[in-house]
Amino acid sequence: MPRKKQENKKKNLKRQKKKRFQTVRGMRDILPNEQPYWQKLRKVIEKIAVDYNYNRIDLPLIEDVDLFKRGTGEETDIVSKEIYEFKTKGGEKVCLRPEGTPSVVRAYLQHGMRIAPKPVKLSYSGPMYRYDRPQEGRYREFFQFGFEALGEQDAVLDAQMIQMAMRIFKALKIHNVTLHLNSIGCDECRPSYNKLLISYLNNRKSSLCMDCKRRLKTNPLRVLDCKEEKCTQVVSQAPQTVDHLCSDCKTHFTSLLEYLDEIQIPYLLRPQLVRGLDYYTKTVFEFFMEDDLGNQSALGGGGRYDYLVRKLGGPDTPAVGFACGMDRLVNAMKSQKTDTYQPPTPKVYLAQLGDVAKKKSLRIFEELERTGIMVAESFGRGNLRSQLSQANKIKAEIVLIIGQREALDGTAILKDMNSGGQETIPLDKIIKEVKKRLHKNAEMIKKIIKQKAAQKKKRKTKNTRKKIQLKAKKNIHKKTKKSIKKKVSRKK
Ligand SMILES: [Zn+2]
Ligand SMILES: [Zn+2]
Repeated sequence: MPRKKQENKKKNLKRQKKKRFQTVRGMRDILPNEQPYWQKLRKVIEKIAVDYNYNRIDLPLIEDVDLFKRGTGEETDIVSKEIYEFKTKGGEKVCLRPEGTPSVVRAYLQHGMRIAPKPVKLSYSGPMYRYDRPQEGRYREFFQFGFEALGEQDAVLDAQMIQMAMRIFKALKIHNVTLHLNSIGCDECRPSYNKLLISYLNNRKSSLCMDCKRRLKTNPLRVLDCKEEKCTQVVSQAPQTVDHLCSDCKTHFTSLLEYLDEIQIPYLLRPQLVRGLDYYTKTVFEFFMEDDLGNQSALGGGGRYDYLVRKLGGPDTPAVGFACGMDRLVNAMKSQKTDTYQPPTPKVYLAQLGDVAKKKSLRIFEELERTGIMVAESFGRGNLRSQLSQANKIKAEIVLIIGQREALDGTAILKDMNSGGQETIPLDKIIKEVKKRLHKNAEMIKKIIKQKAAQKKKRKTKNTRKKIQLKAKKNIHKKTKKSIKKKVSRKK
């Protein structure tokens, strides 16, 4: 090898070694300080899934790319522009999943779930991938959760999906959410509507964007959804899907509206809403949150997909579902200052001094944890004072101290942080003693809370009584004033 080449190779190697790794473009870490929001979100989703009888399903990140080409639609932005597609070493054409619904349907068919009692209710959550231009708050890897119900065509399920989503927003204390709703018809009524729409759009073709000129041939319905201003202007006067529904679709949509009225969920009928994906039929909906500045951001949406199972090789199976962006919900939670998940904190702190004590502590720690008592420690620290200040910091109720002498005697010092008292207790009685004291403390706290609540109630009734009296006084004043006025006017 020539000398220069060799030197270059060396330099490259050196540079490689020095390389500092960063997340790949469009990816990010979700750091511990953000986790309480995610934790809370996951808990809320889990609860709703249990409440409405949805079973969790975990789906692979990598799927056959044709699943989305056929399912989501080759013409959609998700598939035509944003898919993470690649060939494996074995030559299979695969992709990172851009959404969940086609995977759910694939799993439904693959595992023979169609023979299960209907509807089959499944929920999922996890990362999705879209090779989009990364922006503030938008990543190429993002998280979604979704609920899907397969095998039922009654609009009551559509209403229930919306209800579930609304309950999730409410539980997360995300307010100002509006439901946008539309029906885009079925195979029966859509072709004739499409004809109408095409002829309307053809007459205004010059005013459409490039994408929409293409969509006019491939999927005219999607022109309705275009965000370009010139297109939205054209579309605002276009024929509306709801005016051209067949009788079946019309009945379905009206009963959905009736269900929503019944459960008191307000909706905004939006004739331009079509939801960009190929598989939707009848119901489509989206949720928007309005911030203080009046900006609207989409939190998620869904709809009915009565033909998707058939399209992916299964029998006719009506289905409905929705999905929400978890990153967006977390952002919304932050902006609306939702309280986050607070993990239980340890009430016992284990402090030790010296090598023998450390060994003993390791065992006591395990024994306490095994009986369900959460314990904090900092075995790395040798200094007793710094350990005690740590115990103070986490607001431990009980501190167990095992020093050199205690370790030899087989005892521990139990320090009650509430009373300040302390006593030496044999190690074999320590768990019983800790439990007893924690129970006593918990009872005391309960009592205090009860007392405070009673005081508050007392104060409240006192205040309302005062208010009523004040009001009564004012009324008397008003009355006297009125009667005085009357008298005065009479005199005139
Ligand atoms: Zn129809
Ligand atoms: Zn357009």
